[in-house]
Amino acid sequence: MNKSRNKLMDILSCPTCHLKFSSDNKTCTSCKKTYSEYDGILAPINDSLIQEEIKKIIEKEKTIKEKIKDLIPMPDERLWSQSSKKIIKKILLEKDPQASNCYVVNMGSGVESFYKKIFSKHDSLIRIGIPHEGNVDAFGDAMQLPLRSNSVDLFFSSSVIEHLPDPERAVSELFRTIKPGGLIYAEIPFIGAYHMAPNDYQRYTISGIESLFNRHGFEMNEKGICSGPINALLLLVQHAIVEAIPFGPIQYILRLILTWVLHPFKYLDYVFNRFKWGEFLACNFYYLGRKPL
Ligand SMILES: [Zn+2]
Repeated sequence: MNKSRNKLMDILSCPTCHLKFSSDNKTCTSCKKTYSEYDGILAPINDSLIQEEIKKIIEKEKTIKEKIKDLIPMPDERLWSQSSKKIIKKILLEKDPQASNCYVVNMGSGVESFYKKIFSKHDSLIRIGIPHEGNVDAFGDAMQLPLRSNSVDLFFSSSVIEHLPDPERAVSELFRTIKPGGLIYAEIPFIGAYHMAPNDYQRYTISGIESLFNRHGFEMNEKGICSGPINALLLLVQHAIVEAIPFGPIQYILRLILTWVLHPFKYLDYVFNRFKWGEFLACNFYYLGRKPL
């Protein structure tokens, strides 16, 4: 068993009664609820629609577009701000995923090369969610986390909250599962086109993010622009062009070319992110909050 899955076993719990349960028998000894397993990966999930979605992801045959994607992967469409990079580095030093008593969880996110590179250094970092790319240690529903209360030291949630039908419930679950003194680092889009994974429900302003997490008890440490206004404008233009093309493989190749061509302009955000103007038009924001002791 790999390191991250081993670590998950320490904090895994039944999403129905929140009590510790063993993954061996897939049945909670307290509430007797039995959970599924897909491809040898446990899925402690109650929502039948999410289970259907996982089955679809696993059974789906690769399209021509996906085969091209495997050969020529898409570079990151976003450029992370210097302040967000600094924070990610700082919190991974404070809450070291490799330390024995420290549990760092990546909730559903981290498919970009930016995160892949950072997370590859931490093989004890737990990943749960419904992945469209890469592996998870357990399939999980962000609105009903299969984790014990007060067990997580640091949660990463990048571009996940916009895809949840009930973000309030998800943030209350983050608050329940994080240890007192533990951290949540979230990235949520503000200006951006509709994107399906498989559904897209909401956007947040910089004040909206703070208010969302505050409502559930978190104390804000920092917030700011993660990807800036030029990034937002370029992605809108790119989406407007690409989405007009109905044929998947050509759509992918054009998106690939536009991402490469437009990428250098995104560095202008290193200047614009410093001004208030940047906050009015940013692509997405980051939020770092702490659960009070
Ligand atoms: Zn139970």
